[in-house]
Amino acid sequence: MADFEFDLFVIGAGSGGTRASRVSAAHGARVAVAEEYRVGGTCVIRGCVPKKLLVYGAHFAEDLKDARRFGWDVPDCHFDWTVLRDNVLADVDRLNGLYTQTLDNNGVEIFLEHATVTGPHEVTLASGRKITAKYILVASGAHPHVPDFPGSDLGITSNEVFHLNALPKRILIAGGGYIANEFAGIFNELGSHVTLVNRTDVILRGYDHSIRDRLLQISITKGIDFRFHTDFKKIEQLESGGFRVELTKHEPFEVDCVLFATGRVPNTRGLGLAEVGVELDDKGAVKVDADNRSSVDSIYAVGDVTNRVQLTPVAIREGQAFADTVFGNKPHQVDYSCIPSAVFSHPPMAGVGMTESEAKNKLGSVAVYMSDFRAMKNVLADRHERALYKMICDGTTGKVVGLHMIGPDAPEILQAAAIAVKAGLTKDAFDQTVALHPTMSEELVLMK
Ligand code: NDP
Repeated sequence: MADFEFDLFVIGAGSGGTRASRVSAAHGARVAVAEEYRVGGTCVIRGCVPKKLLVYGAHFAEDLKDARRFGWDVPDCHFDWTVLRDNVLADVDRLNGLYTQTLDNNGVEIFLEHATVTGPHEVTLASGRKITAKYILVASGAHPHVPDFPGSDLGITSNEVFHLNALPKRILIAGGGYIANEFAGIFNELGSHVTLVNRTDVILRGYDHSIRDRLLQISITKGIDFRFHTDFKKIEQLESGGFRVELTKHEPFEVDCVLFATGRVPNTRGLGLAEVGVELDDKGAVKVDADNRSSVDSIYAVGDVTNRVQLTPVAIREGQAFADTVFGNKPHQVDYSCIPSAVFSHPPMAGVGMTESEAKNKLGSVAVYMSDFRAMKNVLADRHERALYKMICDGTTGKVVGLHMIGPDAPEILQAAAIAVKAGLTKDAFDQTVALHPTMSEELVLMK
């Protein structure tokens, strides 16, 4: 390996790249990483982490209201966006520092600039410096996709939303996926009027239909305005500072902010990958095998840039598997079965395994168990919001093949239950477990 300056050059210090760098260095590799924005990547800097903090901040709107029913004399409260924003951004700075420190402590050299692949073993930094490495790992992530129509450049994306100067009074959110529903919940709780615009009437495609229907019902009841089966015609800037939005099949209307949450595109443009023979798919993602290796033997890729499962914990596992396999003499591959996921909407939802429709298509014989209930806290708070848990079992063996839920703390509950689903336990095993009373999660062992 001594012929190269480094054993590994990583492009992108996000979740996957940082894990791969740190573990490869711990295995004894000489590692460098290039990051053109901030160490930490999407999840830490402008994704999961600041989003979850905003979700917590937004939920106080309900908590403060409900507290009155629990005897607390809560005066009229005023929300200050700039306080929440600045505290969240300060925490992002803290985490950015910790990620940088982790890399430093492991002896990983950090280049805070753009890197281009200029050969199977060579990258060129923005400064012009050329660096050789035995292996190159592309972990450059993805960026928000913005549809192309007149005025679409007037909107923002999840990159900018954490930095808004003020809370928009009226916000249009485009898309019906994770980011759209999470931010619809956040802004609605914080007091903005939210209009969610989607090209179909299906939100959160991929989640079980009963659970996403419940989220839609609750979101409508909470005041979110959904406009389905519509496309953008144009957006115009108004003198007032707001925007006039024209959609197909709807009257034009005005908003103060337009947020695009219409999917994410792998960051491969300008990386020089195709030029050195790395095959990309039709979305521009790096094509890799089960060992994260691209069509060029010395170049690997992990995380969102491969467009497999765009989730932080998956990127981390891919980075770990890469490092252990290539430098740790402990080859292993990521197991993509039974990956739990969650949407931090209001209320949140979470799921693992097959949806009811998937199970029916794959297994034929399926048994479905449900619990449709109101959390006791919601009952006393006089909040007419029902939780829904759904268990999908193989009709022949009783094995739980899917578990889906919406309700308070659903992601926290599902993470533990996902272990049982991953382990292949049956409905009987759930039933044999004594309920922990009174909790919401006891519904998991009481389902009919
Ligand atoms: P999603 O894929 O979740 O949703 C994209 C939405 O935009 C869908 O409703 C899609 O419609 C719609 N859409 C896609 N392209 C267009 C277009 N050209 N014009 C109009 N509408 C369009 O993407 P997000 O941007 O919300 O999030 C990106 C990814 O980030 C997620 O897939 C997820 O993996 C990850 N993420 C995970 C989170 C979590 O774990 N809680 C939170 C946030 C993001 P259709 O359904 O018809 O395709």
